[in-house]
Amino acid sequence: MFIENFKVDSPNVKYTNSEIHSVYNYETTELVHNNNEWIVKPKTVKYEFKTNTHVPKLGVMLVGWGGNNGSTLTGGVIANREGISWATKDKIQQANYFGSLTQASAIRVGSFQGEEIYAPFKSLLPMVNPDDVVFGGWDISNMNLADAMGRAKVFDIELQKQLRPYMESMLPLPGIYDPDFIAANQGERANNVIKGTKKEQIQHIIKDIKEFKEANKVDRVVVLWTANTERYSNVVVGLNDTMENLLASVDRNEAEISPSTLYALACVNENIPFINGSPQNTFVPGLIDLAIKKNSLIGGDDFKSGQTKMKSVLVDFLVGAGIKPTSIVSYNHLGNNDGMNLSAPQTFRSKEISKSNVVDDMVNSNGILFEPGEHPDHVVVIKYVPYVADSKRAMDEYTSEIFMGGRNTIVLHNTCEDSLLAAPIILDLVLLAELSTRIQFKNDAEAKFHSFHPVATILSYLTKAPLVPPGTPVVNALSKQRAMLENILRACVGLAPENNMILEYK
Ligand code: NAD
Repeated sequence: MFIENFKVDSPNVKYTNSEIHSVYNYETTELVHNNNEWIVKPKTVKYEFKTNTHVPKLGVMLVGWGGNNGSTLTGGVIANREGISWATKDKIQQANYFGSLTQASAIRVGSFQGEEIYAPFKSLLPMVNPDDVVFGGWDISNMNLADAMGRAKVFDIELQKQLRPYMESMLPLPGIYDPDFIAANQGERANNVIKGTKKEQIQHIIKDIKEFKEANKVDRVVVLWTANTERYSNVVVGLNDTMENLLASVDRNEAEISPSTLYALACVNENIPFINGSPQNTFVPGLIDLAIKKNSLIGGDDFKSGQTKMKSVLVDFLVGAGIKPTSIVSYNHLGNNDGMNLSAPQTFRSKEISKSNVVDDMVNSNGILFEPGEHPDHVVVIKYVPYVADSKRAMDEYTSEIFMGGRNTIVLHNTCEDSLLAAPIILDLVLLAELSTRIQFKNDAEAKFHSFHPVATILSYLTKAPLVPPGTPVVNALSKQRAMLENILRACVGLAPENNMILEYK
């Protein structure tokens, strides 16, 4: 059975006019290595969570607003807000938020008279309604959002016709363009750029955010990079390795600071959450250092939309089942502007890196199957084929060793509009980033409540190469990432993690 909403009744949970306060016993373990023996000690740590229930009016500024993802997300939200439906050759299609964890997935809340009861994921805590989000942003191409939607070739034409009047007047602000960081083939569309030194460009972005906030009367702004994949920046001692060096390098107008790092610097400086949806290393060590010192949320990297999402499910299943994946080969071809940009070796290299480490945690978890340091062969190929446009093809071959030296080969073929996968993920990223800034917590050894670490690992379900604070484990397995997120939100309303034991019926 599905219920729309619920309230928790517990001595550990208090709802006031402005917050939900919960006391939560975190069951964990402590490991000790003594005389060649591992001892595992269960322990309980008492935590308190406080969630501010005032949902702000949210503005979202996209870097690369006029791209396929930017125009698809903007149009999709307008279609939902306006209740638009359109005729396809199959049926009358209604706007929806399918593919969004917060808007279209469910959580189990318990059993009632022998039936499992589920509720929307978004009913866990008060979240911004995506229909109410105000969109804006930058693009190095000056095309209005209606034309950009046409250029993207993602939505059915009947939907595009209805959306055009809402999107014609939406104009991206000029963006920071540096041809050294994206493919040369992007030069033609760069007709909307901010001039000046790197320092002046940062000031320009800060001014844009302030003006957007003022003009749209929004309480909070989240900025998200969905612009083209850049090449990696060189990380150099003295250049971008510390906060001081990075800021000094900006003052010196050093060439090796990428546009994405400049947008991020502007945001961190103003305490605006900044999320990177592409694979490049926007978050150079100096920027992470600055975000930590300013306690300003940063999250990334690279949306986990299609092939990698499948990989982080399938390899988790194989390794979890005691089957040894020995070779994973992933081919993609796509024909959108992202594909054209990725046809240059330097930008492809960024994607290759972010796609390549995604099975490490699963492989490392099973020392029966894998020797220390042993990995499956893992190859990723991406080709640009204009004809298929945004409809990306992903072909994967997984070969595994099974019982008694047997081989098992699984082949997947996935065809899908790339931006229809990415747009709901962008929505989740900004909604969850905003929500996470309203949560404060402490354990019983801490005197004061504090926010989550500014490097937002809570968003890792949505990213291919989750950014984590230095010295923190990276989790790629999709089910673990989802459980982490859901269980933290459950803790905020005093609910135990979902343990799937269903002892009531055993
Ligand atoms: P796109 O090329 O259609 O859109 C990118 C937009 O960014 C373009 O309009 C371009 O003009 C603009 N742009 C480039 N550099 C800019 C800058 N410095 N400032 C402002 N605007 C700039 O690409 P897309 O399909 O929308 O994908 C966007 C990004 O998301 C890509 O990096 C892609 O790799 C990443 N991504 C997409 C998916 C997916 O499933 N669609 C998944 C993971 C990551």
